[in-house]
Amino acid sequence: MKDRIYLDYAATAPVLPEVVDAMLPFFMSCYGNPSGIHGTGREARKGIEQARRQTAAALGAESSEILFTSGGSESDNLAVQGTAYALRDRGNHLITSKIEHPAVLNTCRWLEKQGFQVTYLPVDSYGMIDPEAVRNAIRPETILVSIMTANNEIGTVEPVAEIGEICGDCGVLFHTDAVQAIGAMELQADKIHADLISLSAHKFHGPKGTGALYIRKGTRIETLIHGGSQERGLRAGTENTAGIVGMGKAIEIAENTRTENVRKTVELRDLLIREILNRIPGAVLNGHPDRRLPNNCHFSFPGVESEALLLRLDLAGIAASGGSACTSGSMEPSHVLQAIGLQPERLGSSIRLTLGRETTREEILQTVQALTEIVADLRSMRNL
Ligand SMILES: *Cc1c(COP(=O)(O)O)cnc(C)c1O
Repeated sequence: MKDRIYLDYAATAPVLPEVVDAMLPFFMSCYGNPSGIHGTGREARKGIEQARRQTAAALGAESSEILFTSGGSESDNLAVQGTAYALRDRGNHLITSKIEHPAVLNTCRWLEKQGFQVTYLPVDSYGMIDPEAVRNAIRPETILVSIMTANNEIGTVEPVAEIGEICGDCGVLFHTDAVQAIGAMELQADKIHADLISLSAHKFHGPKGTGALYIRKGTRIETLIHGGSQERGLRAGTENTAGIVGMGKAIEIAENTRTENVRKTVELRDLLIREILNRIPGAVLNGHPDRRLPNNCHFSFPGVESEALLLRLDLAGIAASGGSACTSGSMEPSHVLQAIGLQPERLGSSIRLTLGRETTREEILQTVQALTEIVADLRSMRNL
């Protein structure tokens, strides 16, 4: 597998061996139901509560403020729908942006059908949301603002601390989808004034199908999954014990190694950006030049089709992405690239390359070489 170059870490990351080791006992010896009062159940419960402390620590939160879910999508759904329904008596207006993940956007669209009103804020050409636009959009009936910490396609990091402060001043709840941000930057719930924060384990080398929602103490929220009293009655169903334990271990490692990992990743990312812009005529970087995720590169290569480029890269053993796993394959132009105002030529010729802790300098240089040749080749075929 290692002869392939994986540059799609924003889509998912491999589970770390230490994480697998931490999970294994919870499939076999500690198989008990965490709700059981016997020893086997108590062991499973202990594993979950340790993961809750590890997850809380990463956000500077209390354990009681962490709720485990099936991933980023469920966390986003619970945050947006759960607060909308709980606060319906106070108002029916929500604010979000045009570049959110579909888990937030489509939840908002669904809420519109249920009688809620939603403002979708525009972004500038870098994908930045203006905090003052958030302030101006807040009305007396606004109950929630949901703005992502960092965008999964173009990597732009949003001014969430400023937005959170405005929400606090106005008495409006603030949710942020931090799925791409955790492990890439410091993320303290208090510092960004967030009431709700979505996380997903598989984006930081934990298992797929496990996530968490930070819910600030005292926040009113309605449950989406009814049944038993697991997760303080907010999410019924026997816990995914091994997955939760894996998430706890993965977030602890992500935090303990963050500074060093970010330093190394930024260096390689900047090398990739510099080399591509220098060597491939007409290449343009999408997203913000500085306020971007340490591992994100997103380029347009006018005159080349994204799909063709991705297929050729795959043949060359390089895994890249058309922008987001959730929209590629559908051939729909990305809502994020449309929101930053990319013209069709740049929109249809863009790819995302996202680095991770296993990425090496050698892989970056090989990728630059392969890209340079493939782009030139595809362009010459078009001009025949
Ligand atoms: C991946 C991703 C999600 C969805 O997380 P899942 O665990 O795959 O459901 C949500 N938001 C963002 C920003 C993401 O990158």
